[in-house]
Amino acid sequence: MITVPEAIALIHQHSAHPLESRKVKVENAIGNVLAEDLIAPISLPTFRQSAMDGYAVCMHDAAVYSVIGEMKAGDSQSFELNKGEAVRIFTGGAVPASAHAVVMQEKVTTTKEGIHLEISPQHGMNIREVGEQISAGSVPLHKGHIVTPATLGLLKSLGIEEVAVNRNPKVQIIVTGNELVAVGTPLANGKIYESNGAVLSAALQQKGIIPSAISRVEDTLEATEEAISKAMDDWDLVLISGGISVGDYDFVGRALENLGVEQVFYKVLQKPGKPIFFGKKNNTYVFALPGNPGSTLSCFYVYVNLLIDRITGREHPGLIKTLLPIREPLQNKGDRALFLKANITTNSVEVLDHQNSSMMISFSKANALVYIPAEKDVVEKNELVETLILPHGGSN
Ligand code: AMP
Ligand code: MG
Repeated sequence: MITVPEAIALIHQHSAHPLESRKVKVENAIGNVLAEDLIAPISLPTFRQSAMDGYAVCMHDAAVYSVIGEMKAGDSQSFELNKGEAVRIFTGGAVPASAHAVVMQEKVTTTKEGIHLEISPQHGMNIREVGEQISAGSVPLHKGHIVTPATLGLLKSLGIEEVAVNRNPKVQIIVTGNELVAVGTPLANGKIYESNGAVLSAALQQKGIIPSAISRVEDTLEATEEAISKAMDDWDLVLISGGISVGDYDFVGRALENLGVEQVFYKVLQKPGKPIFFGKKNNTYVFALPGNPGSTLSCFYVYVNLLIDRITGREHPGLIKTLLPIREPLQNKGDRALFLKANITTNSVEVLDHQNSSMMISFSKANALVYIPAEKDVVEKNELVETLILPHGGSN
């Protein structure tokens, strides 16, 4: 049995190389990771822009200026301003090279002689200078950056149509258990609705990965072995739920061994999710996740999520961590590390009720996991605890 930090280190060690890269249209790059540093083809802004509705002025010593023309957003004409002259200008309009500043219209009154400024303009005031955000040839985003809607906006503003991104893994989900039936089917005594398949699928989709159809297998060695062996051929990552513990009808471990999947680790000193298996065969990674729904999802977030971030080349792999004061004291009675479903509220973190790994009620309400190391027995109220922020929403 290994510790949580050892398991995390082993995942890092076995995922040194990202999957190959390919060029995609920027619109299709959301959720993907840049495979190369991005070199800005143009500066942003590309021309001097007005940041305000007002007047672009060529400064002189008096407060009165004559208005010689107008520049609205999108206009391309140019003006040569002499001292004491101004052009009416609007936000986004091109500021003439001869203008020193833009004075916002609220600070200007119109008189018979021209316009009267209520303030004395400063050089550069309300002007977005060329390259103020990004200068042509610089590297605004580095390899490893995940493309978000904001990134897409930046790429579009730079006039970029395609980017090289690392391929996302192809993932196969297998759920095991004689007790599982699909939602929509009547529940006979002893049966439960299958949920882990959908949960894993949804958690992958939050990372921009569309997994395979979920395959469900009965608790026999033959069926388990057959399903896993089919999955091994074409997939980068196989996620198996259930059947990895030590019961008489847990066949996943034996099936993986028979199929020659090399074990990287099996069993981690943690609660929930002790009997987690991580292994590899050729280019396919395999996680067997304990079937209790809370264990499956907790292991997904802590380990599978990390592996995916590594093999897609993300700059900062794994969940975001922060230290927060805990609202109530707690005891860690066993010898295992704890991942506790929790809620971050303003400036503190609260561990939720119903931590049992068979329950999803606390996970449903959680926005974080609190990590308590195995060697930590007592946590005092307000002590700082490592808090892992869970992804939320449609995409991470
Ligand atoms: P196992 O890891 O196969 O021993 O399963 C542990 C517990 O999780 C059992 O109570 C199972 O019924 C439950 N379980 C296993 N797989 C699923 C699943 N796909 N959806 C919901 N519950 C499951
Ligand atoms: Mg089972």
